[in-house]
Amino acid sequence: MLTFSEFVELCSVVEKISSTLEKTARISAFIKKIEDDDDLYNTILFLMGRVYPEWSERDLGVGIGLVYEALRISTGVDRRTIENLVREKGDMGLAAEEVVKRKTQTSLFSEELTIRKLREVFDEMSSLTGEGSQKKKIILLSELYISCTPIEARYLTRLILKEMRLGVGEGIIRDAIARAFGIESEIVERAYMVTNDYGRVAVEAKRGGRDALLSLKITPHVPVKMMLAQVAESLEEAVREIPHLAVEWKFDGSRVQVHYADGKVTIYSRRLENVTNALPEIVEEIKRNVREGVILDGEVIAVRDGRPMPFQHVLRRFRRKHDVSKMVEKIPLKVYLYDIMYDGEEIIDLPLRERRERLVSAVKESDTLRVANQTVTRDPDEIRRIFDEAIKAGHEGVMLKNLDSRYIPGKRGKNWLKFKATMETLDLVVVGGEWGEGKRSNLISSFELACLDEYGNLLRVGKVATGFTDEDLEELTELFKPEIEYQEGKKIVFRPKYVFEVAYQEIQKSPKYESGYALRFPRFVRLRDDKSVEEADTIERVARLYEMQFGKGSSN
Ligand code: ATP
Repeated sequence: MLTFSEFVELCSVVEKISSTLEKTARISAFIKKIEDDDDLYNTILFLMGRVYPEWSERDLGVGIGLVYEALRISTGVDRRTIENLVREKGDMGLAAEEVVKRKTQTSLFSEELTIRKLREVFDEMSSLTGEGSQKKKIILLSELYISCTPIEARYLTRLILKEMRLGVGEGIIRDAIARAFGIESEIVERAYMVTNDYGRVAVEAKRGGRDALLSLKITPHVPVKMMLAQVAESLEEAVREIPHLAVEWKFDGSRVQVHYADGKVTIYSRRLENVTNALPEIVEEIKRNVREGVILDGEVIAVRDGRPMPFQHVLRRFRRKHDVSKMVEKIPLKVYLYDIMYDGEEIIDLPLRERRERLVSAVKESDTLRVANQTVTRDPDEIRRIFDEAIKAGHEGVMLKNLDSRYIPGKRGKNWLKFKATMETLDLVVVGGEWGEGKRSNLISSFELACLDEYGNLLRVGKVATGFTDEDLEELTELFKPEIEYQEGKKIVFRPKYVFEVAYQEIQKSPKYESGYALRFPRFVRLRDDKSVEEADTIERVARLYEMQFGKGSSN
């Protein structure tokens, strides 16, 4: 049975390695030796910094406050000392390690933690609901801390707070599984795109090798990674690149993946979060008008007087857990469907042309439920006309799709090109903030932004304090409060959780921030609640956009 200390030793080694190849080799050697399937499953997830697959309905529901409390109870170190350590170390994991080192109570008996034990406790924590559940979680967590060595406390804390950041991304896990079980990386990746769970992929690979992975198929109620688009430099270029071209509006809304099978509807967001409960009227509409046994891809938009409302409104609906019925009246939604991946069986390998026929036959259109209009044309003037129409209707531009192409989950490819009217914006991680002055002193009114480097480190590039309405700031303050790691005067440090889309006048080189760049006149565009921290823009993109200002390089 795998002990937590063996896992932690791997983490501490992997964390220090910068070479991707070496990281892969270490992980691959480690997982190859794991005998138990459950241990293998858990190791893969934990290395990726997850306790459950991102789309799972299960979640630990552990915030920083709960960790502080569990540490205090298990070690006897007071809260203020713990907060000071967090400030000093700038990292919850390192602070927890130090706290456990300073433990004033020694436990007489503590059993060695195993991966299996952690899984049991995590499952128990995630199934707690309602009154008293926070208290029970604190007790369960403090029992884990009692059994932890200091370094184990470091990684336990990072794991439960989703801050593992070992620099072990999907690519490394894919290659490590491929190498450990002697299977081509492409086959491992395909298996992941249809299951969205590398833990399961690793277990299947271990049990049945290549054949087991090849037989994994898309199944209803397990989300499929979304196909993504590249930027079209120009309409002319798109026409040159794609021989059989179909044009659709690029709707200004939020991506949804709709599963309807076995009498049940499940809806996932772009991040593959389960948002079914926030969209009751859409669920009903699907049941009424869609043929059962399908997985569909589309966009949900909020409408008022026939025009799309800012995208923020859709996300407001997604986040809603209570009073959903009030929001149904306040923010009416429409769904535009544009693809189908499953129709009684997996059909992602059919060309778009045939998938479109299946989509049309599976959906009876209604006021709320539409199949996106599609025009097959290669005439740039006609495409321009459709583009103008889309902009006039309040949407973003057009999507140019290759009718001969398969649906390739999780890939940003040339088979879907987007052509938008707006300038390039950046999607940046919010890492800090500041309380406002005077009338706004109870509102967080400025936010510090960072991009990612290739190892997932966050590099600051600027602060945004304009572009917000008072209502935005009120909502954002509520949203960000639970993410406050610590404060000094007016200054706040957040744990990285949310992404802002920002516009700016210019990118400058600047020694002020560790990224080496600074945004001039940044302006808040919206909260990209549909993007995770890992999906934010990279320093490489910032550098590219910087170069483009001088007319060199190209975007995306
Ligand atoms: P963006 O900020 O431009 O939406 P993104 O990274 O979120 O970028 P891309 O894959 O680059 O997503 O662009 C495609 C996105 O456009 C899809 O994720 C989807 O939400 C949206 N979209 C709107 N209309 C369509 C359409 N007709 N076909 C495909 N995607 C569409």
